[in-house]
Amino acid sequence: APAAPLDFIRQIVSEDLKVGRHGAGVNTRFPPEPNGYLHIGHAKSICLNFGVAAEFGGQCNLRFDDTNPTKEDVEYVDSIRTDVRWLGFDWDTREFYASDYFEKIYECAAALIRQDSAYVDSLSADEIREHRGTLTQPGRNSPFRDRPTDENLSLFERMRAGEFPDGTHVLRAKIDMASPNMNMRDPTLFRIRHAHHHRTGDTWCIYPMYDFAHAISDALEGITHSLCTLEFEDHRPLYNWIIEQFPDLPGDPQQIEFARLKLTYTVLSKRKLLELVERRVVSGWDDPRMPTISGMRRRGYTPRAIREFCARIGVAKNESLIDVALLEHSVREDLNQVAPRAMAVLRPLKVVIENYPEGQVEMMEAINNPEDESAGTRQVPFTRELYIEQDDFREVPPKKFFRLFPGNEVRLRYAYIIKCESIVKNDAGEVVEVRCTYDPHTRGGSAAGERRVKGTLHWVSSTHAVQAAVRLYDRLFTTEQPRTDDDSQHFTAEINPNALEVVGNALVEPSLAAVRPGATYQFERLGYFCADPDSTPMRPVYNRTVTLRDSWAK
Ligand code: ATP
Ligand code: MG
Ligand code: MG
Repeated sequence: APAAPLDFIRQIVSEDLKVGRHGAGVNTRFPPEPNGYLHIGHAKSICLNFGVAAEFGGQCNLRFDDTNPTKEDVEYVDSIRTDVRWLGFDWDTREFYASDYFEKIYECAAALIRQDSAYVDSLSADEIREHRGTLTQPGRNSPFRDRPTDENLSLFERMRAGEFPDGTHVLRAKIDMASPNMNMRDPTLFRIRHAHHHRTGDTWCIYPMYDFAHAISDALEGITHSLCTLEFEDHRPLYNWIIEQFPDLPGDPQQIEFARLKLTYTVLSKRKLLELVERRVVSGWDDPRMPTISGMRRRGYTPRAIREFCARIGVAKNESLIDVALLEHSVREDLNQVAPRAMAVLRPLKVVIENYPEGQVEMMEAINNPEDESAGTRQVPFTRELYIEQDDFREVPPKKFFRLFPGNEVRLRYAYIIKCESIVKNDAGEVVEVRCTYDPHTRGGSAAGERRVKGTLHWVSSTHAVQAAVRLYDRLFTTEQPRTDDDSQHFTAEINPNALEVVGNALVEPSLAAVRPGATYQFERLGYFCADPDSTPMRPVYNRTVTLRDSWAK
């Protein structure tokens, strides 16, 4: 295929390399905050950061931005490591934690105080907010702005020593309270928070603010291109200001913003996803309805499909809403190549073949994957009593119904042509059994003769089939752009109550009984399904990954 044109970020990187702006190399980082599980939006950032590094002969660090002790947890750190690796990326020994830099970040802050570029402010949070002004009104200097350097240093040390309660003092950069950019109006660099940190324990009771910690971490790690999402565009002057204060740190990174992924029928905000978990709308972060990496993995999405999706959407500077059907399309496309085919009947209807000998078992050869000859074939048992899908039979067929109905013939996949001779009903008048005859000369698709048989049905043998639970998933939200503001009534009103349907008594062919969780199949005519970790040897559980029908208009 012809090489795709470079996106705007790769153009910048390639130009920088050409003119030697950062010396020889490219260094990126993926910087998650361990306060939740990664989602498909993070996958976009992961593919971008690791992709750019790999394509330009550089390296990508995995850095945990763990500066907010009260929201973070090792559970999240572990899940992030698992998910990035599962997506197919390797950071080798380049795993870093902003918390490992706390001492250095503290020293940087002290250096700022010494050069009169930072001060301890003792206004309350409300007063600070009030002094900050508005978009149309400049801010006012804090009465503490001109504290002598020695007093600032001593107060900052005492903040660290734990002498003050939360909220009594903050360290602020001394920049410009009249700046049109609110982020430049003496932003907070450190705050007091007496909280246990999942890595540093109780060593610290002051924690750096995100903007400060992030810029210093980038500089410490020698990051060249600090790629982030558009909401940080207004923070770039502050980022640059911080970098300029520390010319002796190894890196001279530049921040470049790109549009975050937005997907139809999907919420991509860790805060909102956490809410779904806490309110038990879903069973956990890895519920297959969740747009998290772990949810998609459990649902049966493949790393390759997700990477391919990220490549397709590309990166751009302007926000757009991506159709979730494109993601589903990428999943189908990959699974079509790799998923073995099998037969499963979700809602079984009994078929008895009257002229087939009782007790006889024939093994029918079935193709595992028509897209991949090397996948070979398997043997599927055929017997006198079978099950087909209830949907595949109608007592009174509508127009263009080519499946089974009284007097009609269909082919059973990999087996014989059968004809419906009669039906058996229960007391409620429901059809509970279909009586058929088979034509012994039509085995395995051969010798259909002159007959025009339009329908081919999937089936399982009643004596060999295994009972399974099948979970049918649909989109978690009913609206294209679910609202994510703080009014949670909207949020719940837009949740799709039918996003999960459990079919308890499905029957699957014997090859689907012994299940390796994560194994993916195409159930013929039904869709792609993935074995769930809830499976037991006696009772497999399958999750529907995606249906066969593709709504993506190419
Ligand atoms: P959320 O808004 O979902 O809470 P976040 O941006 O706060 O996400 P971080 O852990 O800070 O989450 O993100 C790590 C990296 O992933 C950041 O560089 C961030 O810009 C990027 N990222 C997060 N969400 C998206 C998204 N929807 N599209 C692209 N990149 C994203
Ligand atoms: Mg964040
Ligand atoms: Mg966020």
